[in-house]
Amino acid sequence: SLAQTRYFVRSNSLDHSYSQMSERKDADVPLVNNWINGKWVPPSTNEYLDVISPSTKKVIAKVALSGPEDVQAAVDVAKKAFEIWGSWPVKKRVVPIIKLHSLLIDNYSKIIEIIMLEHGKNRAEAHGEIAKANETVEWAMSLPQLIQGRVLEVSTGVECKEIRMPVGVCANIVPFNFPAMVPFWTLPICIACGNCYILKPSEKVPLTMQFIAGLIKEAGVPDGVFQIVNGAIPVVNALCDSPGIDCVSFVGSSKVAEIVAKRCRALNKRVLALGGAKNHLVSMPDCDIELAAQDIVNSYSGCSGQRCMAASTLLTVGDQPDLLKAIVEKSKQLTPGCEARQLGPVIDQAAIDRISMYIEKSVAEGATLLLDGRSWMNNKNGYYIGATIIQHTNPKDSALHVEIFGPVLSVLKVNSREEAVAFENANPYGNAAAVYTTKGEHAQWFQTRFSAGMIGVNIGVPVPREPFSFGGCNKSKFGDFDITGDGAMEFFTLRRKITTKWAAPKERTWLN
Ligand code: NAD
Repeated sequence: SLAQTRYFVRSNSLDHSYSQMSERKDADVPLVNNWINGKWVPPSTNEYLDVISPSTKKVIAKVALSGPEDVQAAVDVAKKAFEIWGSWPVKKRVVPIIKLHSLLIDNYSKIIEIIMLEHGKNRAEAHGEIAKANETVEWAMSLPQLIQGRVLEVSTGVECKEIRMPVGVCANIVPFNFPAMVPFWTLPICIACGNCYILKPSEKVPLTMQFIAGLIKEAGVPDGVFQIVNGAIPVVNALCDSPGIDCVSFVGSSKVAEIVAKRCRALNKRVLALGGAKNHLVSMPDCDIELAAQDIVNSYSGCSGQRCMAASTLLTVGDQPDLLKAIVEKSKQLTPGCEARQLGPVIDQAAIDRISMYIEKSVAEGATLLLDGRSWMNNKNGYYIGATIIQHTNPKDSALHVEIFGPVLSVLKVNSREEAVAFENANPYGNAAAVYTTKGEHAQWFQTRFSAGMIGVNIGVPVPREPFSFGGCNKSKFGDFDITGDGAMEFFTLRRKITTKWAAPKERTWLN
């Protein structure tokens, strides 16, 4: 497989003197530069990294590896833009957001193609991703109805008023697994609240937002309100440390979420950093086998298991051979590919290595493979690994405790619903948990006892959709509030309190 390679580029033409470059014969791929003040600008470092399509293993672009100077350039522009954008009334700010909603719809098929190319998810999943992204745009369009303040006469002749002010310049750092949807969890609400927004896409999937940047401009969002600085760790560090950035949102692994949150907190910045996950499903003996089996397969194998809401561990309460048989049968029908109902590749060779290592380790620890997807790894065209189901008997097995982030379901039998909840509660993450049952009493019991922040009843990917906010707890979230919906409005605004008295009160009371 191809290893990602760094390139040095002079101006916008590739430097062929760099030895690996001239060997590769792929100099014609597009460059993904930085979007600063409404223009594509090369990074000050002149350094680029390969972007590789997981479905072909071919280099499809080279993405800028920017440095702190590029972050500073974006911050300078954003601060100027904020002086005007932040002062506009919300009704004026949502005009381009409303236009963006229809522009995205007009361009769905193009966006779907780019997501499939750079991420590898199947067509239906890519369509679902951009449609969900546009739901946050819809919510942001309603901000004039939602962002109103409040007013009360708190004492005779004295009025207290609260209004929502924008925070300022906001940075958002995102992972590879949703090239459009995760940036859109924050983007439309952040700018509609009056902030200026600097995005750091994942260096693995920078093309989708490169395309959407053009639509954002076409919609009429003024230059400098939305900008992109591409790159890796140095850009993230500079965004956290820059005194010109007032607020940072992050989505990615827990390890990096914690680093980002601590770095921002040390500077007293507002920060919301969503991390990784280990999501548990519990099947009760009374569950509807057909419904549960299909939903469990969708949950653990959808987007090839690369979702922070994907099922990872199935706890069966008692032996449930019929349910397991149905899950295995449905999983066997999955074929590799990028069309609807097919299982796409995972993002890169490192993902294949990690996933296969945990499968191997499980076998070494004494678990049984009910389905082994490793034969797909021979596929020369893409980073494929098939659906895998592991039956564990030892609750200490490593695959039951780490985020594998691939199409792998670990199954463990427990003896009671209390044991199931105790197992879920003991895991350090807290994104999602779900129960499969036909009894309301079980559903009620679990929903207040699971430790996760987002709970499903007969739904294995319990993503709250607008107007509800998205967010887990424990190691799945560092910082305050939730992302999307009214949680995002809270995060991206400051409550300004104004107390007013115009004249001495006419009546005297004990208060004055
Ligand atoms: P990642 O943490 O490796 O990368 C996320 C971002 O951080 C990227 O933009 C990357 O460039 C940057 N980054 C990586 N290492 C860094 C470091 N050491 N210091 C500073 N910045 C760094 O995550 P990923 O592999 O792109 O995405 C998968 C992870 O994201 C999974 O753990 C998944 O559960 C999580 N995720 C969580 C949610 C959620 O809502 N909780 C949603 C989507 C994905």
